[in-house]
Amino acid sequence: MNSHQYDAIVVGSGISGGWAAKELCEKGLKTLVLERGRQVEHLKDYSTMTAAPWEMPHRNQIPLEDKKANPVVNRCYAYKEDTAHFFVKDQDHPYVQEKPFDWVRGYQVGGKSLIWARQTQRWSKYDFEGPSRDGFAVDWPIRYEDIAPWYSYVERFVGISGSYEGLDTLPDGEFLPAWEMNCVEKEIQERILKAYGDRKFIIGRCAHLTQPKDVHLQQGRGQCMARNQCYRGCPFGGYFSSNSSTIPAAAKTGNLTLRPDSVVHSLIWDEKKEKVTGVRVIDRVTKEATEYFAKVIFLNASALNTNLILLNSTSSRFPNGLGNDSGMLGKYIAFHNYRGSLSAGFEGFEDKYYFGRRPTAVMLPNFRNVHKQEMDFQRGYMSFYSAGRGGWGGTGDMNFGADFKEASAKPGPWHVFMMMQGETIPKESNFVSLSQDQKDEWGIPLLKVSVDYDENDELLLNDFLEQGEEMLSKAGCFNIRKTDSKQSPGLDIHEMGGVRMGRDPETSLLNGFNQMHLAPNVFVSDGACMTSTGTQNPSITYMALTARAVDYAVAALKRNEIG
Ligand SMILES: Cc1cc2nc3c(=O)[nH]c(=O)nc-3n(C[C@H](O)[C@H](O)[C@H](O)COP(=O)(O)OP(=O)(O)OC[C@H]3O[C@@H](n4cnc5c(N)ncnc54)[C@H](O)[C@@H]3O)c2cc1C
Repeated sequence: MNSHQYDAIVVGSGISGGWAAKELCEKGLKTLVLERGRQVEHLKDYSTMTAAPWEMPHRNQIPLEDKKANPVVNRCYAYKEDTAHFFVKDQDHPYVQEKPFDWVRGYQVGGKSLIWARQTQRWSKYDFEGPSRDGFAVDWPIRYEDIAPWYSYVERFVGISGSYEGLDTLPDGEFLPAWEMNCVEKEIQERILKAYGDRKFIIGRCAHLTQPKDVHLQQGRGQCMARNQCYRGCPFGGYFSSNSSTIPAAAKTGNLTLRPDSVVHSLIWDEKKEKVTGVRVIDRVTKEATEYFAKVIFLNASALNTNLILLNSTSSRFPNGLGNDSGMLGKYIAFHNYRGSLSAGFEGFEDKYYFGRRPTAVMLPNFRNVHKQEMDFQRGYMSFYSAGRGGWGGTGDMNFGADFKEASAKPGPWHVFMMMQGETIPKESNFVSLSQDQKDEWGIPLLKVSVDYDENDELLLNDFLEQGEEMLSKAGCFNIRKTDSKQSPGLDIHEMGGVRMGRDPETSLLNGFNQMHLAPNVFVSDGACMTSTGTQNPSITYMALTARAVDYAVAALKRNEIG
């Protein structure tokens, strides 16, 4: 038992788990990170990071058999031949879709931090105030001021590029130099601002080192080269991942034990001590069961997996899942509505070019229901657009010799793409639970997902499509086409909730420091903790909440309040 005793255990090594590990280790705690997937070492295990298309057997396409066998993961735009090894195949890890739900996962050291799109916007005060103002979910137990210093703290280490805009709907952070809009994007930005006065699109904020500082160079990371082949793992460490950043920082302290291939089955509730003492683990390969013990436990297995682990942590004290006296565990799951997009043409600027593959788009913070409820739907959406030249490298019918070369080098006309990221309202009827009769190969019940859109999502989608069309038309675009992808929830890969934060143990599982009300040495700081979804890409908020929660947990340990 002694050899399995640590100060802290972190479950999961993705975006939030990496942060928990770094912070706990740097504060001097002997920390065990349990990761169900295989080891992926920065650089060493990025097998495709410099591969050219002709070096890949299917020229970076996914073969038909794979598409048929794995329909869910194949719907993710980033799942290609060069990245497939970082995504979970449907067949390997089944779950039950009570309603259609595309659950996209990355089971390896680093989790989805290797394959995320790296867009990072802070929440605003309006997002934290939303549920109490508009009467949905429960009141967030924190406000923007509580998390703002922690946003700064994580942004400095991660390296976020962005521009200073002074917008109250999308607060500024600690930024490296921003990426540049191209000439057509700038023109569209100006025309929309002129037409509306208050709709200011800005360049996206993202976790890329445009100009690394000492803190990044010390991590062994270098400048982003705008290759936009990030999903393979970056040879320069140009974008933030656990593998390039937080896990090496944790390891440097000498306090980290990282144990890949360790599937956490459940948490151990000690009936005599009346507290959680550790976790049960099944070895991914040998299927051998083991137990590990610690004073404090951080759950960072990603939103739905954290729900699964807690639901599976039953005892005579907690027959319905750890800390679940209220019956709230697994409920109020929400996500982002990505269904709407528009495409259009743009005339002119034919003598203008742009360089590199910029890893971000142009974005407009939510402008609906910000200061008061004013639409026939609740909450709002962010809008993104980008403009590029089509046909670059397109060769048409000229497939040989000099004509081919000339056609390859000629850029085509400008086109514009716009998309939405809408808030969804957490509801009791959107929930996850455990299968009573089906288990995976590690003996863990399959997760059942019952999550759907509602009328509010349809109204919000229609408004985005109307507004998008109007904005593009005012910007001088032509041939504007609106699309409702009708994609299932989940494909946004921003699933949140189920173990939400709140003020009252009757209606929430966690307090304002991500600490379980009824198991105070257990902390949940991945997407499961989210009370509502906001309209921003969520991961930078998970990072800030995690660093803040560790700070609180370690202080509570020192005061002997937990552990
Ligand atoms: C294509 C794509 C684009 C995205 N773009 C963005 C974006 O632009 N901005 C943004 O904010 N977010 C984006 N996301 C979402 C982002 O990746 C997630 O929000 C983030 O990774 C969540 O962090 P996490 O720590 O909760 O989970 P993860 O990063 O998924 O890590 C969880 C880890 O826990 C491990 N684990 C799971 N179950 C167990 C268990 N039982 N025992 C042990 N270990 C376990 C997993 O193997 C995994 O390594 C994107 C995701 C994808 C796939």
